[in-house]
Amino acid sequence: MILVMGGAGYIGSHTVKHLLDNGYEVVVADNLIYGHREAVDPRAKFELADLADKVSLRNVFGKYSIDAVIHFAAFAYVGESVQNPQKYYHNNVIGTSNLLDVMLEYGVKKIVFSSTCATYGEPLYTPIDEKHPQNPINPYGRTKLMIEQMFADYETAYGLQHIALRYFNAAGCAADGSIGESHTPETHLIPLVLKAISGERQDIKVFGTDYDTPDGTCIRDYIHVEDLALAHRLAVEKLGSYNGCINLGTGVGTSVKEIIVAAEHVSGKKCPTEYAPRRAGDPARLFADNTKAKEILGWQPKYTNIKDIIQTAWNWELNRKY
Ligand code: UDP
Repeated sequence: MILVMGGAGYIGSHTVKHLLDNGYEVVVADNLIYGHREAVDPRAKFELADLADKVSLRNVFGKYSIDAVIHFAAFAYVGESVQNPQKYYHNNVIGTSNLLDVMLEYGVKKIVFSSTCATYGEPLYTPIDEKHPQNPINPYGRTKLMIEQMFADYETAYGLQHIALRYFNAAGCAADGSIGESHTPETHLIPLVLKAISGERQDIKVFGTDYDTPDGTCIRDYIHVEDLALAHRLAVEKLGSYNGCINLGTGVGTSVKEIIVAAEHVSGKKCPTEYAPRRAGDPARLFADNTKAKEILGWQPKYTNIKDIIQTAWNWELNRKY
C-alpha cells in the first residue's frame, strides 16, 4: 500500500486518483488544514494525521502495511514563508523529520517527495537542469532544500531510498472534472486569470511588464497536474534503483501575457487586466531541462500545449466541486 501524506491537496489528490486508476492501494493522511476531504478519491483509505503529531503518524503506519510514502504535506506560500518562517521550518522540516522517524521505526525506507524549482533560486542559466546550483531565495525554498539534503544523509546512514521531484509550475485539473485546484487564498496565475474572466475577481494584476523577456512579462514552465501525478507513480516504481532529484517541467516557457491570451481563447471572453509593479523575488524566466525525467523515469508529459492545460482548469472553474 502507498501512503500519500498530504493526499487531500492539489497535486496529492491528483496523484491519489492516478495511483488508484493504475491498480495501487492507497491510504491518504492529511491534516485538512489546506486539503479538501472531497478531493480524496472514495476508493482511497483516509486518516486524519499531522506531521507535528508523531502519535497520529504511528497510528497510520501501525494500521496499514505501507510499502512506500509519497510526501506532499507542506506549507507552500512563498510570501508567508518570509513573514512567518517558523511555521515553515516547523511544518516542512521538523514535520518531515518526524515522518522519517516514524518510517524508520516501522521499517519503511521508500519515499517520493515534492520538491520545487524554488530550490534553485535566481537562475544562472535556462533551461534549468538538476546540476544547476541550489541557492533558494526564500524560507520556503530553503525548507525544501534542507529536506533533500536530509534524504542524502539518511540514505548513507539508514539506507533510505528517495526521489525528490522538483516541480516547476503545477497547473490544470483532472480531465474528467472530478477534482481540481482550490487554494485559499489563491495566489497562482492561471486560477486567478480564470477567476478574473469569470467575474469572480475584478481583474488580474500582471506583476511586472519590464522584465528582460520578449513581451516584458515573466516566463514560467506550466506543467499539467496529471503529468505530475504520472511522474510520481513512475518515481515510486523506480525507488531502489535510483536515489536523487528530478526536475518536472515541460521544458517550454510561457509568459504571463501569453497565459492571459490563451485563457481568453479557451474561454472566449476578455480578461480584465491591470499592469502592476514587479512582485519581490520573481525571476524573469524559469523553465526546466526535463531530460533526466525522461531518461530515468521514462516519463513524457502528455500536455505540451498551454491551451489544453488551461482548458482543463477552465472546465473546473465552471463546475467546481470544492
Ligand atoms: N503572477 C502575476 N499576477 C498574479 C499572480 C502571478 O503576474 O496575480 C505572475 C508571477 O509574477 C509569476 C507567474 O505569474 O511570474 C506565476 O506566478 P505563480 O504565483 O502562479 O507561480 P510561481 O512562479 O510564483 O511559483
